[in-house]
Amino acid sequence: MVARCAEFARTAAPTACSRYTRQKLCARLHRVGTQPPALPSGWTSGEKAAHANLHRFIENALADYETQRDRADAPHGTSLLSPYIRVGQISVRQIWHAIRHAEHQNPHLATPAEKFLAELGWRDFAWMQMFTTPDLATRNLRAEFDHMPWRADAADLAAWQQGQTGFPLVDAGMRQLARTGWMHNRVRMVVASFLTKHLLTDWREGERWFYAQLLDADAAVNAMNWQWGAGTGIDAAPWFRIFNPVGQSEKYDPAGQYIRTWVPELAALDNKTIHTPWKSTQRLKYPAPIVDLKLGRLRALENWKNLPK
Ligand SMILES: Cc1cc2nc3c(=O)[nH]c(=O)nc-3n(C[C@H](O)[C@H](O)[C@H](O)COP(=O)(O)OP(=O)(O)OC[C@H]3O[C@@H](n4cnc5c(N)ncnc54)[C@H](O)[C@@H]3O)c2cc1C
Repeated sequence: MVARCAEFARTAAPTACSRYTRQKLCARLHRVGTQPPALPSGWTSGEKAAHANLHRFIENALADYETQRDRADAPHGTSLLSPYIRVGQISVRQIWHAIRHAEHQNPHLATPAEKFLAELGWRDFAWMQMFTTPDLATRNLRAEFDHMPWRADAADLAAWQQGQTGFPLVDAGMRQLARTGWMHNRVRMVVASFLTKHLLTDWREGERWFYAQLLDADAAVNAMNWQWGAGTGIDAAPWFRIFNPVGQSEKYDPAGQYIRTWVPELAALDNKTIHTPWKSTQRLKYPAPIVDLKLGRLRALENWKNLPK
């Protein structure tokens, strides 16, 4: 891993953005030492690698993008282009034209291509938001949330950051982030909902943690997505949409493959119990849930109802 991270850091284009990313990579190298596993397999740095990645995605995964993009257990269900975009090794225009070209050659790719380009559009939407509201990463865009009585529970926040919440999908995501600097989009949505709603923790704590950890950390995209997930942003998911981390896990990682990769202490559990390890009769070296999901949900809804309208 160290060699691959060092390669990524060394070859990133010499821009202000990549200088920043190089610093983060050095910090990461220092922190992870020689621990396996590496960055997601097949993830090498450079413009050539970025374009090879794009073409591999078009050849092998674009056709199934709509059905696979939400699957946490499909490591190549999405393009994995975000770090390359972030350091300038590929541009969104190059991606756009390559996808349009593929669609032109294979009309059956039209529907998944539209979906993919729509996702790419979110990136520019984020930068448009940052342009009009430069304090996107610090201010609730919906002012009523200034009255939300966020909890400041250091132990809960640390458990979330370290992947020790007792909820397997949340912990798998947070550990993937810590080990590789990347996390699957569906899982990002789940861990963000869990932090802000079940733990009633200010979304800015999550935004800061992600920004410090992600290889693709992007000032506008990260802030917009946190505001979206917390219901505080423009056209955001409503606050009452609270993901159940167990239901999400059963739906998007049904056989527990993703969980087994990142939470190895649960690897021996069967496909059902792996989503609810507290029901297992085995002695596990794994924490009990830090929050009662029903009570956490009710607390989030009650506090939201009491906000001034
Ligand atoms: C809480 C949270 C924080 C996030 N922080 C970041 C971040 O700092 N940097 C970042 O690049 N992405 C961020 N995302 C968006 C998304 O998770 C990643 O862009 C995606 O997982 C990258 O994987 P991919 O390249 O395989 O995506 P694909 O599904 O292949 O998408 C292709 C490209 O479209 C863009 N894209 C996809 N989804 C989004 C989205 N929701 N918002 C904006 N652009 C998107 C990205 O540039 C991505 O590389 C965040 C999402 C959440 C829920």
